[in-house]
Amino acid sequence: MMIQHIRRQRCLTSILLIAVLSGCMGAAIVPTTTPKAIFIIVDGIPADVLENTYTPILDSIADKNGYTRAYTGGEIGGESQSPTSSAIGYNNLLTGTWANKHNVYDNQIGDPNYAYWDIFRMAKEHDPTLQTALFSTWTDNRTKLIGDGLEEAGGNKLDYTFDGFELDMERFPHDPLRNYIRVIDDLVTDGAAGYVESNGPALSWVYLEYTDSVGHGYGDGSEMTAAVQHMDGQIGKIWSAVQKRHQAYDEDWLIMVTTDHGRDDKTGQGHGNQSARERTIWIVTNSDDLNERYYQRPAIVDILPSITTHLKLKIPEHIRNQLDGHSFID
Ligand SMILES: [Zn+2]
Repeated sequence: MMIQHIRRQRCLTSILLIAVLSGCMGAAIVPTTTPKAIFIIVDGIPADVLENTYTPILDSIADKNGYTRAYTGGEIGGESQSPTSSAIGYNNLLTGTWANKHNVYDNQIGDPNYAYWDIFRMAKEHDPTLQTALFSTWTDNRTKLIGDGLEEAGGNKLDYTFDGFELDMERFPHDPLRNYIRVIDDLVTDGAAGYVESNGPALSWVYLEYTDSVGHGYGDGSEMTAAVQHMDGQIGKIWSAVQKRHQAYDEDWLIMVTTDHGRDDKTGQGHGNQSARERTIWIVTNSDDLNERYYQRPAIVDILPSITTHLKLKIPEHIRNQLDGHSFID
C-alpha cells in the first residue's frame, strides 16, 4: 500500500462549471445514476503490514486519496470496549454499533442482539427490491451475524449467497496449515467477481479469511506478506468486475476494503487484546466524496453510515439513533 500524503483538493473550477451549467439548464432533469456498494473484509491484516507490502490493486482503488488508518475495539476504557476478535469486528461493521449493543463478544456468536439492524436489513426495509449478495468463507456470517431469514432478525433473506464451503470436508479437506481456506477464498473471489459483473447487486459483502490463517500460523514475516499480496490479486478480480459494471451501465459503484482487527506486537500471531496494533485497522475506498472524518482516524462503525449515505438508504429514526458511527462520505 502506498501512503498518499497529499490531501485531495476539491476542484473549484468544476464546481463553478456545474453551477453555471445547472443555471443554464434551469429545471432540466437530473440524470439518475444507480448507486451500488460492495464491501470486502479481509481478515486480520495489520495496517503496518499492509502499508509495507506492494499491493498495486488496493493502490489503484485508493487512487483518489482513499486510504486511511482506522480503529476497532470500541472506546478504550469505556462501556463499548470489546475484544479485537473477528466476529466482533464484522458485526461492528454490519450494524454500525459496538459490541455493548450488538452483543457479539466472541466468535461463538451465542446471542446477537438483532434489535441493532445489520446493513442488509436496512437495505431491504428501505426497498425490498434492492438486490443483496454475500460471498463468504465463513458461513456463520450469514446464519448468525446477519441471521438470514430469522424472524427475530427481520425475516429477510439475502437474494444471493455463495458460502458454506468450509463445512464441506469432503471437497475441502481441512489441513493443519489451513491451505483449504486459501482455496475457498479463491473460489469465493471468483464467485463474487462473476456475480457482480453479471448481476450488479445493489449491496454485496465479500469476506476472505486466509490472511488471518497465515497470521495465526506464521505471524509477521514473508508468509504474511505473500498472503497479503495474494489477497490484493483477489481484490483485483472483484475491482475489475466493478469497473466493467461501471463502464457498461449507468451505475455509481462504491467499493470499500477493510480488515476486522490488527495483530499483536510481539509475534503477529495473536489478536483480541487492546494494544494499538490490534485496535488499528485501515479502510481503502474508491470514493471521491470523502470528508474530513475519513482522514481523522475513523472507526469501523463509520463504514455502515458511509455506505448507507452512498446508497441513499432511508433508515428508520429509531434505528439511526442507535448508530455509533458517522458517515465519512458526503
Ligand atoms: Zn479476524
